[in-house]
Amino acid sequence: MFDRVEIKIKAGDGGKGAVSFRREMYVPFGGPDGGDGGKGGDVIIKADKSTDSLRAYPHKTLYRAENGYNGAGKKKYGKDGKDLILAVPAGTMVIANEEEGNEIMLADLDNVGEEILIAAGGKGGWGNVHFKSSINQTPRLAQRGEKGEEKTLRLEMRLIADVGIIGYPNTGKSTLLAAASAAKPKVASYPFTTLEPVLGVVTIGMESLILAEIPGLIEGAHLGKGLGHDFLRHAMRTKILIHMISGTSDTPTEDLIKVNNELAMFDAALAQKPQIVALNKIDLPEVQEKLEIIKSELSAAVIKAHYISASTGKGVSELMSATLEVLKTKADAEKRPEQPGKVFRPQPKEARLKVSREGDTWVIRAPGLDRLIAGSGVTTNELRWQLNRQLEKHGVNSILEKAGVKAGDKVRCGELIWEWDKPGRSVNKIGIFGGTFDPVHLGHLMIAEEAKTSLELNEVLLVPAGQPMSRSNENVTPAKHRLAMLQLAAEGSQYLKVSTAEIERRGPSYTADTIAAIRKKSGRDELYFILGWDRLAQLPDWHEPSKIINLCTLVAVPRPGYAKPSLKALEGVLPGISQKVIFLDKPRVDISATEIRELAAKGESIDHLVPEAVAQYIKKHKLYTTSGG
Ligand code: ATP
Repeated sequence: MFDRVEIKIKAGDGGKGAVSFRREMYVPFGGPDGGDGGKGGDVIIKADKSTDSLRAYPHKTLYRAENGYNGAGKKKYGKDGKDLILAVPAGTMVIANEEEGNEIMLADLDNVGEEILIAAGGKGGWGNVHFKSSINQTPRLAQRGEKGEEKTLRLEMRLIADVGIIGYPNTGKSTLLAAASAAKPKVASYPFTTLEPVLGVVTIGMESLILAEIPGLIEGAHLGKGLGHDFLRHAMRTKILIHMISGTSDTPTEDLIKVNNELAMFDAALAQKPQIVALNKIDLPEVQEKLEIIKSELSAAVIKAHYISASTGKGVSELMSATLEVLKTKADAEKRPEQPGKVFRPQPKEARLKVSREGDTWVIRAPGLDRLIAGSGVTTNELRWQLNRQLEKHGVNSILEKAGVKAGDKVRCGELIWEWDKPGRSVNKIGIFGGTFDPVHLGHLMIAEEAKTSLELNEVLLVPAGQPMSRSNENVTPAKHRLAMLQLAAEGSQYLKVSTAEIERRGPSYTADTIAAIRKKSGRDELYFILGWDRLAQLPDWHEPSKIINLCTLVAVPRPGYAKPSLKALEGVLPGISQKVIFLDKPRVDISATEIRELAAKGESIDHLVPEAVAQYIKKHKLYTTSGG
């Protein structure tokens, strides 16, 4: 007799990690401070004494644990989702239906307090704090939470008999079972054994007990047959035994002792269970005749017996009441504080990295990475760059390369899709930093340095304008001085190069032409044009701005005193630009060449604003004084 239901369960999904940046007094964007998402709640099935059936679980219902909460700024963790605990009666088996149709017994919750973590909640995603590194100060990537596990389960509750009836064959065990539980015709076969104990529910007043005939035990032992494991287990679970002897036997007392000996040999623990002795068949005249002899024999052996007739029902209800009393006394004696039960835990999942081909797309399955999500405002280039760093760290890039990925192939990791264009060893990343450089100052040098480290540039070309567009010609210091100062500033640097491309070119210094010329020479190299926020805001008014964004990636650096240009607004006038800008959040230096010229003109010191050699050059050539230049 058992209950059986099929249910679906779903553990909570992990919360999303946040993409957020610290707000600081004078700085619109500080370091990343996006907190992690909380863990999804687990689904736990627990044997609990508060319930005695599986009625609470309608067939095919889905039970879900709470999802983890999303992380937030200021490194705030998302709260973990609440676990869902499904209480089931002791004796419930938890069986999983695998996809292939296999069934796996996950747990057999025999005792109150035992539990199984049946579906683990998803881990919370990492906030962008975790993606910060020395060269990526503004990570715009975070992780989505892991999905909670999902399962289809069958719960089967086995009725565990409180009382087992033992005794020789033909002592009337099945008759007693039928007589005692006749009012409740719930006699069903126990489905898991070959040798099946029969169960019956006996109602005594408001209470009930479950009775099991244990036929195989002695018979099986006699025949030398092995008993089914489940069957034995069932017998072991009974709390007390009714030992039936037959009044028709010539030696009822001996029978009883023999059976007990065999029981002890078979299993000592079984023999130690309390027994209530019932002498059966007192309705038969032959038994009536020797009843007194039997009684004195039994009491001589210090055996207290009940005298019953299972077939007429005489003495059966008294026997059942007495059985119930013994059961209750035993239960009271055993009432211990609830032990924390066994906790079954599923095996941790294997963390594996896999690359496969789906159609024309390479699909990366990398635990943790395939949950990456892009924060708002991230441009394709930036995403590609930040993502690339993560992929590199996890060794995915080299796997892809070994698998034969080619430039232009589509690559997908979780929800992020991009085109493969990771430069091979022979491709360089070149920064182009154009300006009037009148004069070159420490702000310029710090910008070049930051761009170089952040983007892992191989070199930064400093390109002084021949005829700057921004200032009228007559005010501009002659190119040879500006060039000389740049050369002094770049002296000794491994990566700073000075380009005379614009100075040597006739006509106005259009950036578009400069980049096109560099592109021509550099073949497959990646080009990054470095500029301040102020210049980015003006970009749509430049000569052929769309040509510029087609030829290179823009690297925008903050400039104190100017607002960060809105990509949305720029996109309106220069479509495609938002995919071509990488914003750096450092350095923030409030130096301008105009200020330097003004200070120099007033004869004030500019030593702290330009490299030493440049300061000397300015003095020597009396630049920016009314008399010099
Ligand atoms: P000026 O004051 O004469 O206009 P400048 O200091 O802006 O000169 P440029 O040589 O014209 O210097 O600038 C070259 C590039 O450097 C431009 O893209 C400009 O936005 C950027 N830049 C210059 N100074 C800073 C700074 N302090 N912070 C950020 N960007 C800067």
